Amino acid sequence: MKEKQCVEKCSVCEQNNENGIHICDIYICENCEREIVNSDVSDEFYRYYLQKLKKLKHSLLNIS
Ligand SMILES: [Zn+2]
Repeated sequence: MKEKQCVEKCSVCEQNNENGIHICDIYICENCEREIVNSDVSDEFYRYYLQKLKKLKHSLLNIS
């Protein structure tokens, strides 16, 4: 999935990446999205991600 966006700052890794997705108000770059999709719930990255985006946890779980 490729969507052209303006260069925006990823909410997870805090790097600018023009390829990514928006979920509500947050932006996730394709690298982090891939990490999340490949993550296990017990995975460290996934935990980190949920901490970052705690508010949107439920909607995020629905995308994968
Ligand atoms: Zn990222």
